[in-house]
Amino acid sequence: MTDNWTVVVGIKQVPDEDDVTIDPDTGTLNRAEAAAILNPPDRNALEAALQLKDEVGAEVIAFTMGPPTATPVLELAVALGCDDAALISDMAFAGSDTWPTSLTLAYAAEYFDADVGIFGEETTDSSTGQVPPGIAAHLDWAQLTYVADLDPRPEDNQLLATRDVEGGHEVVAADLPVIVAVGYGDNDPRPAGLHRKLYAETEFEPMELDAEALGIDPDEVGLDASPTQVGGMDTADPVEREQEVVDSVEDLAAAMAEEGAV
Ligand SMILES: Cc1cc2nc3c(=O)[nH]c(=O)nc-3n(C[C@H](O)[C@H](O)[C@H](O)COP(=O)(O)OP(=O)(O)OC[C@H]3O[C@@H](n4cnc5c(N)ncnc54)[C@H](O)[C@@H]3O)c2cc1C
Repeated sequence: MTDNWTVVVGIKQVPDEDDVTIDPDTGTLNRAEAAAILNPPDRNALEAALQLKDEVGAEVIAFTMGPPTATPVLELAVALGCDDAALISDMAFAGSDTWPTSLTLAYAAEYFDADVGIFGEETTDSSTGQVPPGIAAHLDWAQLTYVADLDPRPEDNQLLATRDVEGGHEVVAADLPVIVAVGYGDNDPRPAGLHRKLYAETEFEPMELDAEALGIDPDEVGLDASPTQVGGMDTADPVEREQEVVDSVEDLAAAMAEEGAV
């Protein structure tokens, strides 16, 4: 056993999808009007990191690249048990697509001298799933994706992962340092303890890191460094669905048979 693994966890604040609307004129999300929450899959990433803390005594640091209004997700991470949390924020990052976002988070993983970087499978607002593999590519680290469970082997400097694959699971080992993307819903996130919650909300202040602190050249990030071109946005009209109320399972089966559904 070792007690010196450093685990970083990437978390993102997203608009609550139950609350978000689309501007009919521009076709873009009305982000500012929706409540902001922790990206739900990132609860699973935090849980996987905290399990490593429980198992090998790892130090766990959560970070988010976003505006200062993202601080509540960092407080939540600390309330759940993370040792520290950092806000990665700079006007130079504005307009970044997944490429410079991954690059910035790669610099942050190096800044913390991380052995393991844990991330969610995808976000609920952009949902590309590109960021964790992008970080691994920028750093030239091993990557473990669709991870359901982690088994730390500090004596071998390795992390074993049970991965969701079509039709089952596979177990693979990666040498550290490694980037992990945890499958959404693949563990049961713990609740925050009361004392930790009070600490997070009343005393804790996140570290603040800008481009200069991370050693990032502003020309490497932001809109101009983003290869994605958004051609346009459109909304689809809701599909009109026919409905029919049936009184029994037998009537339902008969109606489905009539439609050729069974
Ligand atoms: C041209 C363009 C301009 C954009 N401009 C902006 C902008 O100005 N402001 C803006 O907020 N977004 C902007 N975006 C969206 C932004 O690029 C994505 O939100 C970001 O790259 C993350 O991608 P994703 O949400 O698909 O993450 P995914 O790859 O789906 O996320 C997987 C996991 O990576 C981690 N992760 C993702 N994002 C972060 C983060 N920021 N911090 C820490 N961990 C993270 C989380 O663990 C998450 O579960 C822009 C996108 C494009 C294409």
